[in-house]
Amino acid sequence: MIDNISIIGGGIGGLVTALSFDKLNISYNLYERAESLKEVGAGIWLSPNALQVLEWTNPKMLKEIQDSGNIFNRILVADHKLNPISYSNQSFVQEKFGYKTMAIHRGKLQQILYKYVAQENIELNKTFKNYFQEKDKLLKVNFTDRTSIQTQSIIGADGINSNVRKQLFPDSKIRYSGQTCWRGISDYNLDNDLESVGFTLWGKKLQFGVSKISDGKIYWFAVKLSAPNLKDDKENLKNSLTKMFSEFHPLVNNLIENTPNKKIIRGDISDLELLKQWNKKNICLIGDAAHSMTPDLGQGGAQAIEDAFYLSNFIEKTIDKGIAYDKFYTYRKSKIEKLVKQSRFTSKIAITNRVVEKIRNSILKYTPETYMQKQMIELYSLDKTIANNV
Ligand SMILES: Cc1cc2nc3c(=O)[nH]c(=O)nc-3n(C[C@H](O)[C@H](O)[C@H](O)COP(=O)(O)OP(=O)(O)OC[C@H]3O[C@@H](n4cnc5c(N)ncnc54)[C@H](O)[C@@H]3O)c2cc1C
Repeated sequence: MIDNISIIGGGIGGLVTALSFDKLNISYNLYERAESLKEVGAGIWLSPNALQVLEWTNPKMLKEIQDSGNIFNRILVADHKLNPISYSNQSFVQEKFGYKTMAIHRGKLQQILYKYVAQENIELNKTFKNYFQEKDKLLKVNFTDRTSIQTQSIIGADGINSNVRKQLFPDSKIRYSGQTCWRGISDYNLDNDLESVGFTLWGKKLQFGVSKISDGKIYWFAVKLSAPNLKDDKENLKNSLTKMFSEFHPLVNNLIENTPNKKIIRGDISDLELLKQWNKKNICLIGDAAHSMTPDLGQGGAQAIEDAFYLSNFIEKTIDKGIAYDKFYTYRKSKIEKLVKQSRFTSKIAITNRVVEKIRNSILKYTPETYMQKQMIELYSLDKTIANNV
């Protein structure tokens, strides 16, 4: 059997692409290296652009995602003592796009997405190794278990360290941001006034983000300037984190202290130097494989989800997949490039010295509401006309 399209990677981008193909009756097979999708990882924020795509793929699934997470009324940036610097009221985006930003356990989100994909099209425990272009425009895909398949086309949705990308664009470069990040799930109950707020504390050359993801479970992330590839002394980890954040609002250390050691994950923050194309002939990259960004705008996952929406619709309306991939890149390029640059810029201003901090805070404080709303419209708009009109 020859695959029509082989999706490599069943993360957020790969799964939502599969769901979109199911909706549009595009045949495919998805290969994911994990043996099972367990509830691992920390939390993730889902913005209204992502929620609109999830509703388009399956409204029942979106409802399950919303019921399993926590919806925000406000997104707040505060100083290290939790004094507000700027905030965005989510009723504006609710009115405009039908949804407010929400937070959910990342593993839970992945399990729900997986559950709604046509199961016969997914193979777990399949690690992509490489591909070969064969005659008749077919591709042979080899897996690390020495099996192989033939396919007409590959979509590389295998994340920032994508092996599909390494073969397609060997010169692509991952850039370390200079920052490392700890993420955790705390067993804690926030005060009522913070339950529906997604908030980040900026100060003292550190950053700490907080949001409730479900009853009694709080997702947090802690970011610090660091050399890359450092490892933690697990025994002392909570001590060193609480020391690091000792000058912050006491809530921060309460959250760290109430987190089981095994629920704290560390990862260096990197992004991908902008590629000049995401596709060649019948192979195309999406999500982090194509355009990984730093997490500062909470848009990496949302953009992988947007990719799934646009790519599937371009494929449905275009006979030649190579042409569909060209259209997809041309359409997505400008929004993505802007976000990659903005995310990197935000990562720099979130963690900075005292002088820049003061200037930054006053600029943020006095940014007009109308300007913020314009930015949100640009960010969260989904062009649904693409679904009928390419
Ligand atoms: C600290 C942090 C916080 C973040 N917070 C947010 C947030 O709040 N909101 C948001 O929208 N984004 C956030 N992001 C970004 C988001 O996590 C990514 O952009 C998103 O996961 C990208 O999805 P993806 O499907 O492209 O890649 P991934 O989620 O990385 O999925 C790739 C999949 O491919 C599989 N795979 C890899 N190699 C192979 C192979 N060789 N063969 C088969 N399968 C393979 C992997 O197992 C994985 O399942 C954050 C990122 C970080 C680092």
